[in-house]
Amino acid sequence: MGEYFAVPGDALGVIEEYVPLRNAYERDGVIRTKVVGWAKADPLKHEVAVVEARPVAVPRGGDVVHAVVALLREAVAYVDIFYNETRNALYPVPFRGVLHVSEVSNERLRGLGEAFGYGDVIRARVLSERPPYHLSTKGGEFGLILARCPRCLSPLRKRGLWLYCQNCRRVYRRRKISRHYALK
Ligand SMILES: [Zn+2]
Repeated sequence: MGEYFAVPGDALGVIEEYVPLRNAYERDGVIRTKVVGWAKADPLKHEVAVVEARPVAVPRGGDVVHAVVALLREAVAYVDIFYNETRNALYPVPFRGVLHVSEVSNERLRGLGEAFGYGDVIRARVLSERPPYHLSTKGGEFGLILARCPRCLSPLRKRGLWLYCQNCRRVYRRRKISRHYALK
């Protein structure tokens, strides 16, 4: 029994060889697939069918995601969403997320640079149903889960409500930290 990956329109065989079953159809004597997935051809039964590939679990509104801060402006941060906690899906090619300063925290911030740094990892909630994905880090569950010292790039440790660099002996007081911050 042969099994191979097929995309819509791919020829799976001819009508003399196979009967088209699930997700397969015949036109002008040629059997093709309607869907993206794994074509399974059974030469003994003379049957061919396609098992549809599971669609990528793209982010949806309300999902909890993890993202790396890629670009910081005064009022907006652009982040790369690499993991969807709700759907337990890793994204080798990250989705772009947008975090507006008004969605960072319930406290007023002067700018996003106070709350986050480049390369920091945040845990956030998705606000929009489709790209561009707007995110929020409001609430104790959300915000930084791993941050680095902007001076020496050592991972910062959580000390009460602050982050601390053991290397520089410097305290970062205004970061938006999640309860799930990794290093204590
Ligand atoms: Zn440091």
